[in-house]
Amino acid sequence: MANLSLKHIYKVYPNGTKAVNDFNMEIADKEFIVFVGPSGCGKSTTLRMIAGLEDISAGELKIGDVIVNDMEPKDRDIAMVFQNYALYPHMTVYENLAFSLRLRKLPKDEIHNLVVQAAETLGITEYLSKKPKEMSGGQRQRVALGRAIVREPKVMLLDEPLSNLDAKLRTQMRAEISKLHSRLNTTFIYVTHDQVEAMTMGTRIVVMKDGFVKQIDTPKNLYKYPANKFVAGFIGTPQMNFFEGTLRKDGNDVHIKFANSDAEITVPCSKLDKVRPDYLNGETTVYMGIRAENISIDRVEVGRSKAVVKVRVSHIEELGSETLLYGDLNTDGDGISDSLTKVIIKDVGNGDYKAGDIIEAALDTDRIHLFDRQTEDCILPRIPEYNYLDCTVSGGTLNFSGESIALPPAIKCADGEYELLIPVDAFKVGKDISVNVENCEDICGIKLLSAKLNGKMLYAVVPGDVTEKSLKLDVDLKKITLLKDGKKVVEPMPAVNCLDGIFVKKKTKKQAEENGKFKTLKATEFSLETEGRQFVVSDTLAQKLIAALGVKKAFTSPLKIECGAHSLTFGEDGISARAEGMLDYGKEKFLKCNVGGKYVYLLADRDYEGEVRIVPDLDKVGIVETERNIRII
Ligand code: ADP
Repeated sequence: MANLSLKHIYKVYPNGTKAVNDFNMEIADKEFIVFVGPSGCGKSTTLRMIAGLEDISAGELKIGDVIVNDMEPKDRDIAMVFQNYALYPHMTVYENLAFSLRLRKLPKDEIHNLVVQAAETLGITEYLSKKPKEMSGGQRQRVALGRAIVREPKVMLLDEPLSNLDAKLRTQMRAEISKLHSRLNTTFIYVTHDQVEAMTMGTRIVVMKDGFVKQIDTPKNLYKYPANKFVAGFIGTPQMNFFEGTLRKDGNDVHIKFANSDAEITVPCSKLDKVRPDYLNGETTVYMGIRAENISIDRVEVGRSKAVVKVRVSHIEELGSETLLYGDLNTDGDGISDSLTKVIIKDVGNGDYKAGDIIEAALDTDRIHLFDRQTEDCILPRIPEYNYLDCTVSGGTLNFSGESIALPPAIKCADGEYELLIPVDAFKVGKDISVNVENCEDICGIKLLSAKLNGKMLYAVVPGDVTEKSLKLDVDLKKITLLKDGKKVVEPMPAVNCLDGIFVKKKTKKQAEENGKFKTLKATEFSLETEGRQFVVSDTLAQKLIAALGVKKAFTSPLKIECGAHSLTFGEDGISARAEGMLDYGKEKFLKCNVGGKYVYLLADRDYEGEVRIVPDLDKVGIVETERNIRII
């Protein structure tokens, strides 16, 4: 039983292949985690790093509270089950199960009890005296599982354990492994390329592609709220329908026009209020996605709906309980070619149609997914980045949605109308604006408050559950953006300052007391050097840097040191910087400093002139190795 923590984990193979990039995850005790993705996406490499069979290039891996990066596999208290079973062919099932226990020199009676118990759990008692070759694939895989569970490991790792089995046996073993997980109460991490396996077994799923994590969530949430087009297309059968099109805002409606067909539907603006307004200009092409079961050809539904499209039926697949209807939004299209107008509809009724018919279908507008055409990221995310509001500025006051806030001296802006962007993390309980709480949702551990501000929906990330019906919130004005005709007139203060640096070591001497006498001993001191100054780092940070950069390159790799305005302080031994004015945000003031041509900002209680010296708080910095683009902290 153990929790695992993976922080900024990377794997770069000696030939330069970056198999895993910045893998971050906290796995709770007893979870059933599935890593899924197409072949070569890095799932086995991640599993093998957890097992200790592969070195971790950078990052920190903890099992329980212990950092295990350098711990031998045998000491990690994990058990691994492989696709090819990896049984000893010359040993009986009993001997295979007992083998690791004998190595651990457990008493004979105890070994016997553990083996018998495991065999009973897996239903292989009658095979205990047989050799693996006398058994079927399914039975062999059960023995492999048994060999893992007798060790009572803290974590069970399973690498495509069912791939060698036929479809029917796979389904049966899937259920058995899930049962085994609930019975054993152990953390399971399971690798598969099969999305059905992932969806049916995982409590949470990690979807990977090309060495990157694309999304981590529960099966239901991955299906309902895919974060990008890849996850949307990878999870679910039949695959989600994708179309290209444009979105045009017109009053309280948004018109969605499908490319290469006459299809056009209308949805209320309120459904798309998390979408960045420039996507709603009627020109930007986006990907639209909708699942086969969210399109209805039921006459009543079609009659009620404002989102009806014409579909030319191309062929029909009768599946018994449902019918899959293949068609094309382009009524001249064939629904077969790989076009962006073909569509699959899941019909659970007794639709009266045949190939060649042109029928009407209603799209469920609550289930439309939208993705950016370049990044393929969802543009209608569960947690939006910003609130998009219309505002005016007059006489130093910001007016939006019936509220007024005095602008601080740091924000200089001519009177006029603007678009206002307030990030969802820019609110805290205070007194600036009054909102009526609609809902407080837990989204992957983040609490998202939805509240009405004089009729306009506002989203805010809050630290905990909100039970009040109404709230007063403060807006952190250093985070807002004001736009005029799409151009930024007021920009937020940068959230992070970046400094270039390098890791250095120095020979020093230290005094130590031995038998009442003081001796001078040689010692090594590790520092981060930036802008010509060196700052001594803690042993923990030094170890992380050496582990990530490798001994050979530790002291030559260029680094980017990132620190927020609150992690820089004034100090005599600090970096030399030139003060270039104050940013006064009212409650907080920041000094803008020029460091070797770059600007950094730090919290300051008064104005400064000329040279100042600033010190980064190394306990709060982020560090990126720029050559391989590896985040170390
Ligand atoms: P998956 O398990 O998702 O199929 P892997 O983790 O096995 O993927 O591999 C991820 C990537 O790393 C692939 O591009 C693969 O070719 C590469 N890779 C795996 N092992 C090695 C190795 N020993 N040396 C170099 N590249 C490797």
